[in-house]
Amino acid sequence: MRRPDHRPGDARPALLLDADGTLFPSEEPAFEASTRVTNAFLRELGSTEQWTPDELRQRAVGRNFRSLATDLARDAGRTPRDVGLEAWVAREQEVVTTHLAATLRPDPEVTAAVRRLARHWRLAVVSSSALARLDACFRVTGLADLLPPESRYSAQDSLPVPTSKPDPAVYTAAVAALGVPPAAALAVEDAASGVTSAAAAGIPVVGILAFVPPAERSRRAADLVAAGARTVGKDWELVEAAAAVAHLAALHALTEDVGGIADRAPALARWSPVSTGGVPR
Ligand SMILES: [Mg+2]
Repeated sequence: MRRPDHRPGDARPALLLDADGTLFPSEEPAFEASTRVTNAFLRELGSTEQWTPDELRQRAVGRNFRSLATDLARDAGRTPRDVGLEAWVAREQEVVTTHLAATLRPDPEVTAAVRRLARHWRLAVVSSSALARLDACFRVTGLADLLPPESRYSAQDSLPVPTSKPDPAVYTAAVAALGVPPAAALAVEDAASGVTSAAAAGIPVVGILAFVPPAERSRRAADLVAAGARTVGKDWELVEAAAAVAHLAALHALTEDVGGIADRAPALARWSPVSTGGVPR
């Protein structure tokens, strides 16, 4: 994995943001488009099952198509190679990316929150989705400047062997590339598989429910806590408050890692939890 230039004196811990369902409401439109390809794949496997987008979502939230299709092929007694998995993965990615680029829109609340968080954290994206799909989503949601391509880590494209959350590999690779210990990072995740992935990499996690359908929120919150989330916020404002609380511990871990607090003091001063009630403005 590429390793971005280390910036000496950058006193900020790393905030690792999940993308789908966390920064934009892509899960529902992605599953609408993915269902068409998944059902064609099921027919290819000889299955008589055909899923609705909601059935697919219940089975696959937080996982990528590669992971799901590999399991489906295995259940049908086939190998990824003899079902032509790579071609199916490419087809699904193209169909979903095209649909997301046509349906997602900027969300001013998310943009403002991410902009505020960037004052105190080095931002990165940690996702199971492919980089091409992420790029389309960040462009149409207006987040590409805040979260540019060099800050994105994909379980599909950034690792020697493609994988998917809940495998912790993508989080482990992201903190290694950023040069921070896991305890000097904080992950934000909307799905249990993502929380499991980050927690298994030793990274504290805050859950977010901003784009979870209201009827599913209490169940999702319980799932996120059970998977290892330290706390769960129903919106970005509460995630910012949780991040403010987590920031000092992350900063401490960063100073422990490099030794000495002298050049970190300005960052402690910049974050002013007392005057803002813990929420940076
Ligand atoms: Mg997600």
